[in-house]
Amino acid sequence: MADHRAELQWIESQAPAMRDELLQLAQINSGSFNAAGVDAVAERLEALFVPLGACAERIAVEPFRSTADDGSLRERPLGSALRLRMRPQAPLRIFFCGHMDTVYAADSPFQAVRALDEDRLNGPGVADLKGGLLVMWLALSALERSPHRERIGWEVLFNPDEEIDSRGSAPLLAQAAGRNHLGLIYEPAYADGNLASSRKGSGNFDLIVKGRAAHAGRNPEDGRNAIAAAAELVTALNALNGQREGLTLNPGYVRGGGALNIVPDLCVFKFNVRTSQAADECWLHEQLDQLMKRVQARDGYSVELRGGFTRPPKAFDERHQRLAAMIGDCGRALDLDLQFKPTGGCCDGNNLAAHGLANVDNLGVVGGEIHSEREWMRVSSLAERGKLSALLLLRLASGELSWS
Ligand SMILES: [Zn+2]
Repeated sequence: MADHRAELQWIESQAPAMRDELLQLAQINSGSFNAAGVDAVAERLEALFVPLGACAERIAVEPFRSTADDGSLRERPLGSALRLRMRPQAPLRIFFCGHMDTVYAADSPFQAVRALDEDRLNGPGVADLKGGLLVMWLALSALERSPHRERIGWEVLFNPDEEIDSRGSAPLLAQAAGRNHLGLIYEPAYADGNLASSRKGSGNFDLIVKGRAAHAGRNPEDGRNAIAAAAELVTALNALNGQREGLTLNPGYVRGGGALNIVPDLCVFKFNVRTSQAADECWLHEQLDQLMKRVQARDGYSVELRGGFTRPPKAFDERHQRLAAMIGDCGRALDLDLQFKPTGGCCDGNNLAAHGLANVDNLGVVGGEIHSEREWMRVSSLAERGKLSALLLLRLASGELSWS
């Protein structure tokens, strides 16, 4: 058995500096649509990771396309991805991923970090996912201090758009899945410290329902009420809940109409779908087709569909169970009893699994109440989770563990 104590103790010694770095990172607003803020985070990460010896590149991603309230297609620019690669020819190649964006926009009132108690910080992105970026740095730094590092090559992707489905960075995730053997993603662990096993898939859809405007009093019979037609679609789609095991659908956004004396000619309706198996996607599309046809068959109405499934479900298959067992063993060596539990949430781990790369995707800090102003993380988990990932890397590098 190789002795990894020196590297693990070194991680412990770095914890105070990482707490300070986390305060800095979390106070840079990097809402997904704040491209300058996301780029500022990339700048700091580049300064932190390049000294490990990796080559860095900034990669522009496609703008984010969404449907505006007037039904038009809107494009919003995003920050660039930052990719680092080290020893790309090594026998075992591991992909590390963490997103730089948060759900808090530049004008959100939630911008500052504060201590809740001795161990917990509250702040935007402290858990999701800025703490995880530093866990990643601790683990990779520990690997680079090991005499066995040459066995492992690594690729890091810091993406700018995970919170809005990673459509821009999806091609980069697919590339990485194709040339690495394992994936480690730094989403936060659950509040109790446990990790995710299977994840549901997800899709976002927009329906643009068009009718015909008319005077509500003088000639309402000439009008085609787009809100009324959209309401039928909302109700019918909502009624799909419970019709297929493991599939849920959430109508989440409706906009239409204006002056009350006008028959409205436009209504935009958006919804999210969660799936448990690949076949759910076809099923949903069939239902959607039928419902759209029913409205379109009527005189004066049209329905346009945009969007689609962005993340397939992630199954906890044999390879994922084997990786989880390896991480569970590393946890036990560090006095951590880690359970793997399924979740309805999804993340970039879904994308990697869909491209055949086994991964564990919430190796970041321990935290909770993410996507709310109560978001918190445990400072002690920076070193704790840094050591967990480091031990996995050190054992793989020294040959105590193998992956094929
Ligand atoms: Zn996240």
